[in-house]
Amino acid sequence: MSRLIYIDNAATTRLDPDAFEAMKPFLLEHYSNPASVYSFAQESNQAVEEARAAIAGTLHADPGEIYFTAGGSESDNWALKGVAQLKRKKGNHIITSKIEHHAIFETCHYLERHGFEVTYLDVDEYGRIDPEALKAAIRPETILISIMFANNEIGTIQPIAEIGKIAKEHQILFHTDAVQAYGHVPISVEELGIDLLSASGHKFHGPKGVGFLYIRKGIALPSLIHGGAQEHGRRAGTLNVPGIVGMAKAAQIAAEKMEERSQKETKLRDYLIQRIQKEIPYAKLNGHEKLRLPNNVNFSFRFIEGESLLILLDQNGICASSGSACTSGSLDPSHVLLAIGLPHEIAHGSLRLTLSHENTKEEMDFIVDKLIKIVKQLREMSPLFEDFEKGA
Ligand SMILES: *Cc1c(COP(=O)(O)O)cnc(C)c1O
Repeated sequence: MSRLIYIDNAATTRLDPDAFEAMKPFLLEHYSNPASVYSFAQESNQAVEEARAAIAGTLHADPGEIYFTAGGSESDNWALKGVAQLKRKKGNHIITSKIEHHAIFETCHYLERHGFEVTYLDVDEYGRIDPEALKAAIRPETILISIMFANNEIGTIQPIAEIGKIAKEHQILFHTDAVQAYGHVPISVEELGIDLLSASGHKFHGPKGVGFLYIRKGIALPSLIHGGAQEHGRRAGTLNVPGIVGMAKAAQIAAEKMEERSQKETKLRDYLIQRIQKEIPYAKLNGHEKLRLPNNVNFSFRFIEGESLLILLDQNGICASSGSACTSGSLDPSHVLLAIGLPHEIAHGSLRLTLSHENTKEEMDFIVDKLIKIVKQLREMSPLFEDFEKGA
């Protein structure tokens, strides 16, 4: 099997070749520690500050509001634990949703073990939170609202502007995990009323192991990583200069080409959705038809195990993902699919296809053609499907 079709861009993306070119000099020539005093360190220090300004520009933020981290998970941990510590005197209540990434979920669980209370808002059948339910959940001791911008499994985009408005009215800080959204949809922290925002380089064709946290000016977020005085004493550790430069380059390209990429991806996405809906029976699209990321497709196929589907797709060179929490070694269906109301057995037969601007229509056809055969083959082996067909 020589052919490889990569359609798992929510898991990670391919490094943009131009981002790679931008990184190279900072690995081989300008390898200095940007914190050093000699002039040789100027090159890398300047590159980091240019990267900071470039990223700030994409969000309509100030450079001083961008803090570099080691990725989305660190940014999420820092935002939640930082606000918890900062606002502890005011209160101990945090509001989030039932469909957050594990980096938010597990941090909330950690905070619950340390005296904080967390409300996990329900979502509707499309995965959207209800702003009225958010308002109703606010208490005098609420210190933080953390709602993801767009979901990593079903692509649903949240009513971020409304959430930002509610947070502001109640003088509560608003954090959003924008790891799936940043670089893919336009974001203005000003217009949307966002106080803290997490992003990760490798989700928008930048390198892995580098990300950032936007922290609105005036929020004295305490450090998560203690040590040296980097990042205004708020995030210790020698800066990952090549990573930061590569991420900023990818961010600039993503911003410049957002319209073009998004149009292309949306077209491929909708083509994929339409073909699957037309040609595979008992398939349900998960997430919202319109309010979803341009690159996300998520289906549940009845009478099928997502894991078997993935193995057979892999045998055909197709890299996709399922709704099972396979990374944790458990076969529990995804908390996101359960939260949108799917019964266990249907959530188990889920498939996530997340494309990029590099995918082609021809690849979409290859995927659907294989999928038709695989789904049929798996259903033929299913005693449940046999019973269902007899009954039907
Ligand atoms: C990937 C992802 C993360 C984690 O980012 P890393 O850089 O891999 O740590 C957090 N939140 C969401 C929504 C993600 O998709």
